[in-house]
Amino acid sequence: MTELTCPFCFPDKNDIIFQNSLWYARWDAFPATPGHLLVIPFRHCPDIFSTTPEEQAALPEMLFSTRALLEERFTPAGYNIVINTGAAADQRVMHCHVHLIPRYNEESKNPPGGIRGFVMERP
Ligand SMILES: [Zn+2]
Repeated sequence: MTELTCPFCFPDKNDIIFQNSLWYARWDAFPATPGHLLVIPFRHCPDIFSTTPEEQAALPEMLFSTRALLEERFTPAGYNIVINTGAAADQRVMHCHVHLIPRYNEESKNPPGGIRGFVMERP
Protein backbone atom coordinates (compact mmCIF):
# COMPACT_ATOMS: atom_id res chain seq x y z
CA MET A 1 0.00 0.00 0.00
CA THR A 2 1.51 3.31 -1.05
CA GLU A 3 0.49 6.68 0.28
CA LEU A 4 -1.28 7.37 -3.02
CA THR A 5 -3.56 4.35 -2.59
CA CYS A 6 -3.92 4.59 1.18
CA PRO A 7 -7.53 5.32 2.20
CA PHE A 8 -6.40 7.33 5.26
CA CYS A 9 -3.72 9.58 3.73
CA PHE A 10 -5.94 12.11 2.01
CA PRO A 11 -9.12 12.49 4.08
CA ASP A 12 -12.00 14.45 2.65
CA LYS A 13 -12.37 17.46 4.94
CA ASN A 14 -16.09 16.67 5.18
CA ASP A 15 -15.25 13.30 6.73
CA ILE A 16 -13.13 14.82 9.52
CA ILE A 17 -15.21 15.10 12.68
CA PHE A 18 -12.39 16.34 14.92
CA GLN A 19 -8.69 17.09 14.51
CA ASN A 20 -5.58 18.52 16.09
CA SER A 21 -2.32 19.35 14.36
CA LEU A 22 -1.21 15.71 13.92
CA TRP A 23 -4.33 13.51 14.10
CA TYR A 24 -7.87 13.48 12.74
CA ALA A 25 -10.98 11.50 13.61
CA ARG A 26 -13.57 10.06 11.24
CA TRP A 27 -16.45 7.63 11.52
CA ASP A 28 -15.54 4.01 10.85
CA ALA A 29 -16.89 2.93 7.46
CA PHE A 30 -18.01 -0.42 8.94
CA PRO A 31 -18.96 0.46 12.53
CA ALA A 32 -18.95 -2.30 15.13
CA THR A 33 -21.41 -0.26 17.20
CA PRO A 34 -23.17 3.10 16.69
CA GLY A 35 -20.59 5.88 17.02
CA HIS A 36 -17.53 3.73 16.28
CA LEU A 37 -14.83 6.13 15.11
CA LEU A 38 -11.19 6.06 14.07
CA VAL A 39 -8.40 8.36 15.23
CA ILE A 40 -5.73 8.55 12.52
CA PRO A 41 -2.42 10.41 12.17
CA PHE A 42 -2.30 12.71 9.14
CA ARG A 43 1.16 11.38 8.39
CA HIS A 44 1.34 7.98 6.74
CA CYS A 45 2.94 5.49 9.11
CA PRO A 46 2.13 1.80 9.28
CA ASP A 47 1.26 1.38 12.94
CA ILE A 48 1.24 2.90 16.41
CA PHE A 49 4.84 1.83 17.01
CA SER A 50 5.91 3.94 14.01
CA THR A 51 4.45 7.16 15.36
CA THR A 52 6.76 9.97 16.44
CA PRO A 53 7.01 11.16 20.05
CA GLU A 54 5.08 14.27 18.96
CA GLU A 55 2.28 12.14 17.51
CA GLN A 56 2.21 9.98 20.64
CA ALA A 57 1.93 13.09 22.82
CA ALA A 58 -0.94 14.45 20.69
CA LEU A 59 -3.03 11.25 20.75
CA PRO A 60 -4.64 11.50 24.23
CA GLU A 61 -6.21 14.88 23.39
CA MET A 62 -7.89 13.21 20.43
CA LEU A 63 -9.24 10.34 22.52
CA PHE A 64 -10.60 12.60 25.25
CA SER A 65 -12.13 15.07 22.78
CA THR A 66 -13.76 12.45 20.58
CA ARG A 67 -15.02 10.62 23.66
CA ALA A 68 -16.73 13.86 24.74
CA LEU A 69 -18.35 14.07 21.30
CA LEU A 70 -19.59 10.47 21.61
CA GLU A 71 -20.94 11.11 25.11
CA GLU A 72 -23.07 13.96 23.74
CA ARG A 73 -24.37 12.13 20.68
CA PHE A 74 -24.66 8.50 21.77
CA THR A 75 -24.46 8.32 25.61
CA PRO A 76 -22.70 4.93 25.58
CA ALA A 77 -22.16 2.91 28.74
CA GLY A 78 -18.49 2.14 28.02
CA TYR A 79 -15.73 2.03 25.42
CA ASN A 80 -13.15 -0.19 23.83
CA ILE A 81 -10.01 1.52 22.56
CA VAL A 82 -8.44 -0.89 20.09
CA ILE A 83 -5.20 -0.62 18.11
CA ASN A 84 -4.72 -3.55 15.76
CA THR A 85 -1.02 -3.72 14.92
CA GLY A 86 0.09 -5.98 12.08
CA ALA A 87 -1.77 -8.36 9.80
CA ALA A 88 -1.66 -11.11 12.44
CA ALA A 89 -3.65 -8.80 14.73
CA ASP A 90 -6.24 -8.13 11.99
CA GLN A 91 -4.92 -4.71 10.95
CA ARG A 92 -6.43 -4.25 7.48
CA VAL A 93 -5.32 -0.72 6.53
CA MET A 94 -1.59 -0.32 7.03
CA HIS A 95 -1.84 3.28 8.13
CA CYS A 96 -1.92 3.64 11.90
CA HIS A 97 -5.42 4.05 13.31
CA VAL A 98 -7.02 3.80 16.74
CA HIS A 99 -10.56 2.44 17.09
CA LEU A 100 -12.73 4.19 19.67
CA ILE A 101 -15.73 1.89 20.00
CA PRO A 102 -18.68 2.91 22.16
CA ARG A 103 -20.34 0.07 24.05
CA TYR A 104 -23.94 -0.12 25.22
CA ASN A 105 -25.57 -2.00 28.08
CA GLU A 106 -28.04 -3.73 25.79
CA GLU A 107 -25.25 -5.47 23.84
CA SER A 108 -24.67 -9.19 24.23
CA LYS A 109 -22.50 -10.18 27.19
CA ASN A 110 -21.55 -13.49 25.65
CA PRO A 111 -18.62 -13.94 25.51
CA PRO A 112 -17.79 -11.73 28.49
CA GLY A 113 -14.43 -10.14 29.13
CA GLY A 114 -14.03 -6.92 27.12
CA ILE A 115 -11.21 -7.26 24.60
CA ARG A 116 -11.38 -11.06 24.86
CA GLY A 117 -14.59 -10.86 22.88
CA PHE A 118 -12.77 -9.43 19.90
CA VAL A 119 -10.16 -12.15 19.97
CA MET A 120 -12.57 -14.99 20.69
CA GLU A 121 -14.75 -14.09 17.71
CA ARG A 122 -11.94 -15.08 15.38
CA PRO A 123 -12.39 -18.43 13.58
ZN1 LIG B 1 -1.72 6.39 4.66
